[in-house]
Amino acid sequence: MANIELDEKGLIVACGACGKKNRLAYEKLGDAVRCGQCKQPLTAPGAPIELHRTEDFDRVVAKSSLPVVVDYWAPWCGPCRMVAPELQKVATRQAGRMIVVKVNTDELSDLGERFNIRSIPTLALFANGREIARSSGARPASDIEAWVEQATQVRT
Ligand SMILES: [Zn+2]
Repeated sequence: MANIELDEKGLIVACGACGKKNRLAYEKLGDAVRCGQCKQPLTAPGAPIELHRTEDFDRVVAKSSLPVVVDYWAPWCGPCRMVAPELQKVATRQAGRMIVVKVNTDELSDLGERFNIRSIPTLALFANGREIARSSGARPASDIEAWVEQATQVRT
């Protein structure tokens, strides 16, 4: 799991070169950004981001310039544990092209209710603030990537 914090404006990531924490604004997640201290390029989040607050979810989904894959999961769900490493692969391989966030529906039950999540794992894809696709059940990383690509192409 990525050690990434979120605030009202963006993701807080540590520079791989100097360790300085930098904010990547949600609106500029797909842009090339350099560290404010050492000027080395910052790498986009390459791991799923665990969300713990509904307001973080709302900000990411509303403002992100990249498609957002949401994994609705819970600790007791066996198939969720199967899909977790697949989402890790997607987040690493697609860093800078999409972001992957995880919503524990036990912890953030208001989101599960709002989006009518009936079974887990469920994957939802958000782009430009709207949900554009949803998929239930565990799937391999390549399937998830193909699903995102197809859904985002249909949109444009
Ligand atoms: Zn740096």
